[in-house]
Amino acid sequence: MKYEPVIGLEIHVELSTRSKMFCGCRVEFGGEPNTRTCPVCLAHPGALPVMNRQAIRYLTRIALALDCEIPGKSIFHRKNYFYPDLPKGYQISQYDQPFAIEGELHVGVEGEIFRVGIERVHQEEDTAKNIHAGESGRIAGSLYSLIDFNRSGTPLVEIVTKPEIHSPQAARAFLNKLKNTLLYLDVSDCNMEEGSLRCDANVSLKPVGAEELGVKTELKNMNSFKHLEKGLTQEIARQMALLEEGGKVVQQTVHFDVASGEISPLRSKEFAHDYRYFPEPDLVPLVASAEFVDEVRAEMPELPEARSRRYMETLGLPEYDAEVLTSSRNLADYYEESLGHYQDAKALSNWVMGELLGYLNATGQELSDLKVKPGQLAALLKMVDSGGINAKTGKEVFAEMCDTGKDPSAIVEAGGLAQISDQSELEALIDKAIADNPGQVEQYRGGKQQVVGFFVGQVMKATQGRANPQAVNELLRKKLSG
Ligand code: ADP
Ligand code: ZN
Ligand code: MG
Repeated sequence: MKYEPVIGLEIHVELSTRSKMFCGCRVEFGGEPNTRTCPVCLAHPGALPVMNRQAIRYLTRIALALDCEIPGKSIFHRKNYFYPDLPKGYQISQYDQPFAIEGELHVGVEGEIFRVGIERVHQEEDTAKNIHAGESGRIAGSLYSLIDFNRSGTPLVEIVTKPEIHSPQAARAFLNKLKNTLLYLDVSDCNMEEGSLRCDANVSLKPVGAEELGVKTELKNMNSFKHLEKGLTQEIARQMALLEEGGKVVQQTVHFDVASGEISPLRSKEFAHDYRYFPEPDLVPLVASAEFVDEVRAEMPELPEARSRRYMETLGLPEYDAEVLTSSRNLADYYEESLGHYQDAKALSNWVMGELLGYLNATGQELSDLKVKPGQLAALLKMVDSGGINAKTGKEVFAEMCDTGKDPSAIVEAGGLAQISDQSELEALIDKAIADNPGQVEQYRGGKQQVVGFFVGQVMKATQGRANPQAVNELLRKKLSG
């Protein structure tokens, strides 16, 4: 029998509001432990939660970007369980009446667009953080654990997909697209190392074409998309082997060890009824009025698809360029800021996609680390266009700008890199090259036109690449045939 994988994702996003979900404590990563706490997020008796309006705005942005229905009234519930990082003994979350339902996201994978349904988007709060002393950072083998309540009560949005993803690659592409969308929305920094974006993946196998879904397992808290893709691949292989030898998949949480690449069972899966959900009596229902939703809709930023379309329609860029440039909001912003100083959209796109992304790739830097400001890139391109330097030198100057953050004019001046277009200067060099290489001259005159390239090379070598290639070409042809 042939099986196909079925994957559904649960994504947690920490919102970048200034204050926490139900109290006024500041939201920030790290810092001196237990300095951003108050009776509410420490769960002192009698302390009462108050909803953070800005968090609900961000939540609404996410719901709108994912084309969700917003039913108008949602309810907060208490999700009860005991864990040291949960001081109240319950997490305030949403249960059977979530904020938003029935959305979708379109994702491109290997040149094809597929649709992933969104089951729900709801608001909750983050837990505090257990810090397990010891090398691994995991509880197993640690001597003791400490608790930092700074994170306790950070606004957390949960996004749950339908089980409509069919390969680990597609899961990764979905997450990339979702992350990019969240960054465009400016609702989270999506920093995975700091835990601002976390993902649980559910996976099962079913016979190809079958309606009924198989028993799933869950990979928890994957902290990178690459690991998630690998973990899913491993888990699919494990389930496949199990089914093929007539075994049964047990519903459980499994752990993927990144270092060894091994999957091991973690614990049996908990069920909703284990949590004894009941409505949070300290909060009123959350009513998202049509006016409120419209207000948020009006402040929605342009999303990647719309931006990409605009690049094609109004800037005349090819689809490929538009996709690459809008693949992150930072990059698109950088591109557009540069375009404010330099008008040739396609030439600029070539430099950004080629030189700039090439440099970032080669050095492993992020765009935010780049020393070259958009105005400086534009100044460089103008210099190339006006013939101040040739394109090849331009690329070298760009590399130096990346390393030093200096202005292109300063680098060109200090290095004596200005292009040589001066007729008499070039002529002298060409005459010398001709005199030094009588054999090649003969070849040229015998009809071997491509020998011109050899002479261009000689002149370029003599000028350390600074000669104006067009002028050299023209002069050479004149002299060689004369
Ligand atoms: P649970 O109650 O176990 O948390 P849910 O129905 O809430 O399960 O679904 C949680 C996630 O698991 C969702 O993303 C959903 O798409 C996915 N999912 C549900 N059933 C399956 C299945 N059989 N195979 C793969 N993923 C599944
Ligand atoms: Zn607080
Ligand atoms: Mg669930």
